[in-house]
Amino acid sequence: MHKIAHNLTQVLNRIQAAAIGCGRKAQAITLLAVSKTQSTAAIAEAYASGQRAFGENYLQEALEKIAELTPLAIEWHFLGPIQSNKTKPIAEHFSWVHSLERLSVAQRLNSARPASLAPLNVCIQVNADGEASKSGVNLAEVAALAEQIQQLPRLKLRGLMAIPNPADPAPAFAAVAALQYQLNQTHNLQLDTLSMGMSDDLDLAIAAGSTLVRVGTAIFGPRH
Ligand SMILES: *Cc1c(COP(=O)(O)O)cnc(C)c1O
Repeated sequence: MHKIAHNLTQVLNRIQAAAIGCGRKAQAITLLAVSKTQSTAAIAEAYASGQRAFGENYLQEALEKIAELTPLAIEWHFLGPIQSNKTKPIAEHFSWVHSLERLSVAQRLNSARPASLAPLNVCIQVNADGEASKSGVNLAEVAALAEQIQQLPRLKLRGLMAIPNPADPAPAFAAVAALQYQLNQTHNLQLDTLSMGMSDDLDLAIAAGSTLVRVGTAIFGPRH
C-alpha cells in the first residue's frame, strides 16, 4: 500500500547520492515522475507523498488523467511524439513539452498557447546517438532550431532532452551536456534544463549534468 511512497524516497535518495558523488547539489535536480499507463490512484499516491511534477506520453490517456486530477496542483509534462493536429490540447493542458523536434510543431504550440497561461516550457529532443531510426534532432541541427524557437513568444526554450541507447548512455549524456553548454556560450541562449536520465541510468545522467530526471518504473513499478 505504501509502496509508491517508499519507492519515491528511494529514488530521491539515489538522486541525492548521485549529486553528492559528483559535487552537485541535489536541489539542482528535479524529479519528474513518469506516470504513463499508471492509474490516477497511483499518481494521487505519489502526490500525497509530495511529488508534484508528472510526465505523460500518450495524449488521450493524459487528458483523461489531467481532467480527473484537476483538484491536485500537478505540473504536467508532455514527453511523447507530437502529432501536428494535436498541438492545441498539449498547449492548453501542459506546463512543459520535452519532445519538441520540429519548428512547425513549435509554431503551432506557440499559436495555441492560451494568453491566460505562462509561456509553455519546452525542451528540444536530441538524437544524441545519431541512429537514424531514433527520434530527436541531430546534434548538428539543434542550434538552428533553438534560435528559431527562441523567437516564439509563447514558448520558453528551457533546454535539451535525450533518451540515449540504454546499452551505453554515458557518451550521449556527455555530448548533449556539451552541446547545451556550447549553445549558452555562443548562441546567446540561457538554457537551464538538461532532461536526461531514467530509472536505470539517472545516476550517470546526473554525473553528466542532468537537471531533470524522468523516472517511471523505479517509482510506480512495471507499466501496465
Ligand atoms: C517512459 C519514459 C520514461 C521513464 O522510463 P523508466 O525507465 O520507466 O524510468 C522517461 N522518459 C521518457 C521519454 C519515457 O517515455
